Amino acid sequence: MKEKNLSRRHFLGLVGAAGGSTAVYKTAMALGLMQDTGPMAMLELQRAGPAGKKVAVLGAGISGLTVAYELERVGYDVTIIEASRRTGGRNLTLRHGDRVDEMGQQQVCNFDDDPELYFNAGPARIPGHHRRILHYCKVLEVPLIVKANIGRNAYTHEEDHFDGKPMRIAQYMADARGLLAELVYKAVDQNAFDQPLSAEDRERMLYFARSFGDLGSSGAYNGSMRAGYKSGGFGRPAEYYAGTEFGALLNSHFWERSSFSFENPDWGEPLMEAVGGMDNIVKGFVRNIKSPILLNAQVQSIQLQGDGVDVIYNHNGERKKISADYCFNSIPSHFMAGLPNNLPAEYRKGLNSLKRGFGFKIGLQMKERFWEREGIYGGMTFTSQRIGEIWYPSNGIHGKKGIMLGAYKFYDPTEFFDRMTPEERIEYAANCGEKIHPGYSDYIESGVSVPWRRMNHMMGCGTQWSAEARERYYKLLQQPAGGRHYMIGDQISYHSSWQEGAMASAEDALLDLDKRVRAATSISMKG
Ligand SMILES: Cc1cc2nc3c(=O)[nH]c(=O)nc-3n(C[C@H](O)[C@H](O)[C@H](O)COP(=O)(O)OP(=O)(O)OC[C@H]3O[C@@H](n4cnc5c(N)ncnc54)[C@H](O)[C@@H]3O)c2cc1C
Repeated sequence: MKEKNLSRRHFLGLVGAAGGSTAVYKTAMALGLMQDTGPMAMLELQRAGPAGKKVAVLGAGISGLTVAYELERVGYDVTIIEASRRTGGRNLTLRHGDRVDEMGQQQVCNFDDDPELYFNAGPARIPGHHRRILHYCKVLEVPLIVKANIGRNAYTHEEDHFDGKPMRIAQYMADARGLLAELVYKAVDQNAFDQPLSAEDRERMLYFARSFGDLGSSGAYNGSMRAGYKSGGFGRPAEYYAGTEFGALLNSHFWERSSFSFENPDWGEPLMEAVGGMDNIVKGFVRNIKSPILLNAQVQSIQLQGDGVDVIYNHNGERKKISADYCFNSIPSHFMAGLPNNLPAEYRKGLNSLKRGFGFKIGLQMKERFWEREGIYGGMTFTSQRIGEIWYPSNGIHGKKGIMLGAYKFYDPTEFFDRMTPEERIEYAANCGEKIHPGYSDYIESGVSVPWRRMNHMMGCGTQWSAEARERYYKLLQQPAGGRHYMIGDQISYHSSWQEGAMASAEDALLDLDKRVRAATSISMKG
């Protein structure tokens, strides 16, 4: 061989020959050649090995389905055990006639029977860098559309600011940038820095400030077309908004609470959603999984045995047991404390240290798409009222009706909405909506609300890890207890509350299993 230095590419080729594409992936990650965002396409597990092949997957949410799909493909004998009457876990889309599994309250979704009228009560957005979930949407043939998350024509609304009137996000953002840029411009113009700028830098900075804030040639901000037209602009001359007063803007809270969240990559455009509802991802898995998915099968005990795991579950009232070689468990960590098991004490402490988040959403069927008359197509309005947000649908544009999100609270420990009846929640949301869109209540035909703390088999949303818990238990919980029991789900990830986190955890567990199976195979081949 002429090559003296081993190129990275050549090295990866050698690794691949020895350990398969999973090993290439792992090595590429270790060499810093791949980001932690695109591996699923590379996941090529070794076929079920001599160390055992019977697998129990606990929970048919996104993480459980991912594991089941991958293991079944390489010859494992998989059984999925799900407590609820449905698959999907927190991935829940509500349509005409669907029952909401809220504990203690009866609710049926009364939307019209129309495929465009659905409400994503759990996941609703997929960002472009969530490569695992996007990979599965592709291979499972789940069509996606672009979801407008940020609509500059939507509003920011603060009851105690700007006379309680909604302001277009475009206007707020243009003014915020303009006013900030004007300050920078003045400071540069007056050379008010400790280290004076060179003449060239000064010119560039002034230019930068003018373009950043759409300032006039003298460096003053007097409003901007970026805020949108107040009137005219087409057949008649445009009239622009005068800029907001800086003090009023500084005292308001949109910049502090929400405006920069658009720059968080999870919310940055473009986002995607599954055509016809996010549960089409779940349906995609179910279509492609042949293994049994037992519904109404609640796990009641998990016992590590020397060479496997015994799982006892109640299936439609009958007590059953499965003795599996491996168990992949996505049961919410806060349920594990009450579920008899013999997992190691430190492992159990780790599970007990995790807290569950709150989450609440309302979906409203509107008899007309009145927001489109206000130039709003997708995106969301932010409000200081308890409903938090209003979302406008990206699907069904110019149709007759539409489903809006009428409230979205993620961290409300007061459980304000949870304590109301479903009717009270809708009425409350309707009154809040009135302050942003006069006449809002009259458009509401029906509504449905989902308080995740009260949802059967869930009782919460994303997992909250304290820094101490992360430090002490994360690595431990990623490891299989007894080499056989894997805890999975977005709860065992750095990206809880996202399907990508659930899949990342599934992937970690699968790669660990693969490592063990390969090691066992090589021992048995040597033997
Ligand atoms: C309001 C809300 C908004 C969200 N928004 C987004 C978003 O925009 N984008 C995104 O990607 N993600 C979003 N998520 C997060 C996403 O829904 C989750 O990350 C993902 O669905 C979690 O999947 P999982 O498999 O880890 O857990 P789960 O879906 O919680 O699955 C756990 C399963 O275990 C079952 N189970 C419980 N107890 C037992 C038992 N004893 N025996 C057997 N089975 C049991 C449950 O019924 C459930 O099916 C959102 C979630 C919520 C609630």
